[in-house]
Amino acid sequence: MKPSTRFLPLIFTSTVKRLTEGSLVALTVTLGLLTGSASAQTYPTKPITLVVPFAAGGPTDIVARTLAASMTKVMGQTVVVENKTGAGGTIASAYVAKAPADGYTFLIHHNGMATAPALYRKLNSNPLTDFEYVSQAVDVPMTLIARKDFPASNMSELITYLKANSSKVNLANAGLGAVSHLCGMLLQQALGVDLTTVPFQGTGPALNALLGGQVDLLCDQTTNTVPHIKAGTVKMYGVTTKQRIKALPDQPTLSEGGLKDFEVVVWHGVYAPKGTPAAAIEKFGSVLRAGMKDPNFVSRMADLGAEMTPDAKQTPEGLRTWLNSEVNKWGPIIRKAGVYAD
Ligand code: ASP
Repeated sequence: MKPSTRFLPLIFTSTVKRLTEGSLVALTVTLGLLTGSASAQTYPTKPITLVVPFAAGGPTDIVARTLAASMTKVMGQTVVVENKTGAGGTIASAYVAKAPADGYTFLIHHNGMATAPALYRKLNSNPLTDFEYVSQAVDVPMTLIARKDFPASNMSELITYLKANSSKVNLANAGLGAVSHLCGMLLQQALGVDLTTVPFQGTGPALNALLGGQVDLLCDQTTNTVPHIKAGTVKMYGVTTKQRIKALPDQPTLSEGGLKDFEVVVWHGVYAPKGTPAAAIEKFGSVLRAGMKDPNFVSRMADLGAEMTPDAKQTPEGLRTWLNSEVNKWGPIIRKAGVYAD
């Protein structure tokens, strides 16, 4: 059957007319490879960028870099991590929303994607309309820690100390919209105290400041804190999950320590700019799922207290549904607290 020339770009039309039927088939195939529908056969032809909204060396960055290494192995094409910090992760989201929708830029972000619409009155990207959804990734508990020489040695001492000395204590975070901010906000609400918050570009630098004694308290993911808790270089008050975690079996939950029902779990989503070809989303998603099964990734994450996301959430629909439910969950809580980032 003679292939139709109807959809070929105008620039090629005159050439097409002069071709024999055999070479016309060859030309159609070549053009087809350049269009979205056939791009799955060749994609990716160059390194893919995975944008992290926080500083290098921090917990989101550690998840992203471990995952990128596993994905690179699976795909045979490099996944490059790029840190775009600031404004609690919203600078990175806006950057990715406006990046070319060609399958070469993705974003890994956490709960901040769902809290931003309530925290920011002016947001440069809309998490519900400006992205394609790829998959959820790992779930990570948080821990409440302090500098090694902080006066309180356990949760009950901490509660007493904070109630008596709140004006003297500072609490580091990764900016308004970060999960460290959310966790700190819930902690202050639960205790009825008002601490001075100190924002950083990520909790990598925040933890360094805590280790150096420049800040007092930090609520941060286990992917950053487990090695320091085990080494005893920080004081540890509890994990933010309902149950104790395998990576820190001797450490109590904050709920056990007196903050009844206190729970914050950090979930991650992988996004692409709206309009990214479905073939690229499918391919990147399948490599991501395979990367999450790589034994190196699984064992490193387990050592750092992270949990694998259930398979049902490792899909575009799984992420979209979860993001929607989180936006609806946190919006009213944040609005009630009257906290704005801008
Ligand atoms: N833990 C940070 C947060 O509070 C982010 C990071 O540095 O990875 O959101």
